[in-house]
Amino acid sequence: MSVCKEVIAKVLAKDPSQPEFVQAVKEVMESLEITEKKHPEFVKAKVYERIVEPDRAVLFRVPWVDDKGEVQINRGFRVQFNNAIGPYKGGLRFHPSVNLGIIKFLGFEQVLKNSLTTLPMGGGKGGSDFDPKGKSDNEVMRFCQSFMLELFRHIGPDTDVPAGDIGVGGREIGYLYGMYKKVRNEHTGVLTGKGLEYGGSLIRPEATGYGAVYFAEEMLHTRNKEMKGLVAAVSGSGNVAQYTVEKLNQLGAKPITLSDSDGTVVDEAGIDAKKLAFAMDLKNVRRGRIKEYADTYKCKYFDGKSVWEVIREQGLKVDIAFPSATQNEIDKAGAEGLVKVGCFLVSEGANMPSTPEAQDIYLENKFLYGPAKAANAGGVATSGLEMSQNSLRLSWTREEVDERLHNIMRAIHKNALQAAEAYGKPGNYIVGANVAGFVKVAKVLVANGVV
Ligand code: NAP
Repeated sequence: MSVCKEVIAKVLAKDPSQPEFVQAVKEVMESLEITEKKHPEFVKAKVYERIVEPDRAVLFRVPWVDDKGEVQINRGFRVQFNNAIGPYKGGLRFHPSVNLGIIKFLGFEQVLKNSLTTLPMGGGKGGSDFDPKGKSDNEVMRFCQSFMLELFRHIGPDTDVPAGDIGVGGREIGYLYGMYKKVRNEHTGVLTGKGLEYGGSLIRPEATGYGAVYFAEEMLHTRNKEMKGLVAAVSGSGNVAQYTVEKLNQLGAKPITLSDSDGTVVDEAGIDAKKLAFAMDLKNVRRGRIKEYADTYKCKYFDGKSVWEVIREQGLKVDIAFPSATQNEIDKAGAEGLVKVGCFLVSEGANMPSTPEAQDIYLENKFLYGPAKAANAGGVATSGLEMSQNSLRLSWTREEVDERLHNIMRAIHKNALQAAEAYGKPGNYIVGANVAGFVKVAKVLVANGVV
């Protein structure tokens, strides 16, 4: 049995209650088998065994008081997975589904993703099972303050730099940063996704969505195709989905879907800039449900259905797809639905949105398939640029950051493509991204000795 297969078996035996973590390890290790022969030094140093164990995982109680005066208790997590190439870096997720396995899967993926960005960042992830939905601003503030009263002792601008993820946007980062500053008495780049007035970077909110579209554009160019005129499916309606829609419009494509955990909107006329502004106000300011979009613009709404179910069941024609909501949102049937309607490209804004069976369908059907750790790395890359600006105590212009983001996405695409070719899997971005991200980290683990 290969070392990578042994690692998969061991992780499955040790962490059977962490299915998302096991799934992520399996996908990565299956791609890495081809590196074992080329790098006996990795096998000898047990690099494969070492990268699936986090450096540390912190689990803590987060007590807070709601608006009725009742005490509430949530769980907080920070998993510092690997700091071979730089300080731990990765978002915080606030969602009721959060548990240690979810945070470990995200942290593990983050290690390789951050390596791919070409910037010096290790991998980590954190969050809580707190649900910001339906909470007042004051409740969210009290929760964030309590969360930071424990987290602050584990993070720092040269140690671990958290950011946003599902349920953690500008509002939450603001409250978290406020408490960090108070207890540390330091104004440093300890969080990214900050407001512009206190150290944030232009283009950081846009970066993940823009990056996923830039990555798709690079994939299209390999087949001499253009974005212009293509019909796009986008899932979710949060940060990543919103800026994916914006960039698709700018490049002349036509995004026609948005969703949330209640249902899916289909607007075949296209979600243009004006309608997107409505959706952004609805989601970011009024914090309402996406159904209101369909009510306002008199388009179709499918209650309780995901974008992928709607495409499959309605035969909705799309050329390109940007899953931007959550993990495992596209299963085998969803992927088959995409094939049937003639879709030929998937660029993943969300983390691990396609099940392994869905990925197999993409590969069998020669999709241009940009897996999450490559396609959505623009967000963390721009967080890296925010860290650089904080260290320099300078702010770059919008154009400068966007240009750097665009170049990073081109570099990630090129590195993934070249690694896939070099390791005998041309055109396979899953293998390319996993191998390119891994080799850099693995070399450092060997160089730094057994620590
Ligand atoms: P967000 O702003 O909180 O938006 C998340 C969106 O996805 C919302 O529309 C939400 O609907 C929907 N959603 C969440 N969980 C769902 C579920 N279980 N079923 C159906 N819909 C669900 O979060 P985001 O920052 O856009 O993140 C979206 C994805 O991108 C995540 O996988 C995240 O890890 C990944 N990502 C984000 C960044 C970043 O920079 N933000 C970077 C890289 C990757 P509701 O409103 O109903 O909850």
